[in-house]
Amino acid sequence: MNQHRQSPSPPPDHAAIAPLHSVAVCPICDAGLCGIRICTGDDPTEPMPRRGFVICDECEAVWMVPDVRTVHQYLDSRNPICPICHAGLWTASRWADRDDLERLGWSHAVDAALDGGSES
Ligand SMILES: [Zn+2]
Ligand SMILES: [Zn+2]
Repeated sequence: MNQHRQSPSPPPDHAAIAPLHSVAVCPICDAGLCGIRICTGDDPTEPMPRRGFVICDECEAVWMVPDVRTVHQYLDSRNPICPICHAGLWTASRWADRDDLERLGWSHAVDAALDGGSES
């Protein structure tokens, strides 16, 4: 059940494998963090859609709003895609930082107790 960490396309930014900001501990697997990612698109010539989503870093359950009580979906674990632009998950989105949260208007949803340690 936990084979996605051997993903054939690892995150390009190895320092940011863990979510920077999370909204909750995952209510589905009870182990992962529901981290906020922002879609960046996979084509630098295209304007970025700048939409966010929430994904569990353990079971890859996905929510399109920062509220894990809403309906979730699952990505294809062999070929995870960004649920917004449908390009490769790890190349077309990244963990949202504080500025991204502001842009998304999702700052209120973050549980600061779950933040990754890299930002102070
Ligand atoms: Zn995307
Ligand atoms: Zn989970």
